[in-house]
Amino acid sequence: MLLRHTPKEINERSAVTINPAKTCQPIGAMYAALGIHGCLPHSHGSQGCCAYHRSALTRHYKEPVSAATSSFTEGSSVFGGQANLLQAINNIFTVYNPEVIAVHTTCLSETIGDDLNQIFDKAHKEGTVPPGKTLVGAATPSYVGSHVTGFSNMVKAMADLAEPVGKKNGKVNVIPGWVEPSDMEEIKRLAKMVGAEITLFPDTSGVLNGPLSGEYSMFPQGGVTVAELKGCGDAIGTLALGEWCSADAARLLDTKYKVPCKILDMPFGLKATDRFIDALRIISGTVVPEEITYERGQMVDLISDMHQYFYHKKVAIYGDPDQLIAMTEFLVSIDMCPIHVVTGTPGKRFEKRIKELTADMPFEVNVRAKGDMFLLHQWIKNEPVDLLMGNTYGKYIARDEDIPFIRWGFPILDRQGHQYFPTVGYKGGLRMLEKILNALLDRKDRDDPEEKFELVL
Ligand code: SF4
Repeated sequence: MLLRHTPKEINERSAVTINPAKTCQPIGAMYAALGIHGCLPHSHGSQGCCAYHRSALTRHYKEPVSAATSSFTEGSSVFGGQANLLQAINNIFTVYNPEVIAVHTTCLSETIGDDLNQIFDKAHKEGTVPPGKTLVGAATPSYVGSHVTGFSNMVKAMADLAEPVGKKNGKVNVIPGWVEPSDMEEIKRLAKMVGAEITLFPDTSGVLNGPLSGEYSMFPQGGVTVAELKGCGDAIGTLALGEWCSADAARLLDTKYKVPCKILDMPFGLKATDRFIDALRIISGTVVPEEITYERGQMVDLISDMHQYFYHKKVAIYGDPDQLIAMTEFLVSIDMCPIHVVTGTPGKRFEKRIKELTADMPFEVNVRAKGDMFLLHQWIKNEPVDLLMGNTYGKYIARDEDIPFIRWGFPILDRQGHQYFPTVGYKGGLRMLEKILNALLDRKDRDDPEEKFELVL
């Protein structure tokens, strides 16, 4: 009963957030940067920010996350952090020798007004960037947006590394958005099956879900290379999976280098995966192989077998906009009813999209962008649900209200496996269906009276 003080009565609030459904911009920028091969993320701010961001990622991915910091003190907080960043760039290339340093700002350096491009120019002029090494930077003030905004800003900066030679290379850029390393692996597997040659960025597979080999490597095998990013401007097209996380980067490549882009939803569930596979097929001029049709058929089979248990079950979901939009469509497509949907990330388009997706549902949806977990809990108290889906922070609500709970999204701090098993694509859909079904049937087994306690379901 940790949240027993949450009142049922809802008063509109404009000046206070209680238990936010988001975290801060640099965490997203740091995660995106880890998807570049040989990259050391760098936090331009005070040590506390960097320590928090690293630990948040380490706790979710269960892997050591390395990042450097400009270590602001009183002097840099007043006069700016240029000297610290120049020193840091020199130290990092000298001591750790990464291929890339990906710098993101913090609230403090943004408030001072530090200009990363100007500092990078100075570093190049002073010769502290060795030949062949790269600096990439993103402004990530955490008093606007959320971790999703920070992720998007860093991905856009990655796209801006493109250096087209003017001859199409036949590849398709795929920008996966903030998904697990396992999801990135799955997207690459599907693209390979379709016969599309892709550049996936960022790509944290093999970085944050690598094997335990007994040998420490500061820079694991995975990640998109700078050479691949430079080639993005010569791609035949870009597929951006998610408006919030990926569209800005795709539009930059479109407007700057005439690489046509298509903005899709994240491929969660049957419909969104169908659209992704179809777009990949069209853009790369290939055909969908039998193996993919087979996997799709398996998912359809499971849905039809288990539909009776999904039918009209009420769900509350919270998390990030791109994930929630795709998951809402997925749940509605299997006749479940997501009646409470909350993201901490701002954006009115989110509410409009969720309302469109749930228009034919038998229940009215409560949806809020820039909402918080407190509001979600109040909604649940007023209209109870059969299932709660979201990150670890929902466990308090699940326990208080005695609701079956599926961990999904970021961060998951108290369970493992999410970095190894995909939730995108048809295989990922099968896994999500199994998780939903097990949560509902475990509850049924717990609550059924003895005369209804069945061996076969
Ligand atoms: S909100 Fe700002 S000050 Fe706080 S950890 Fe994030 S970047 Fe640092």
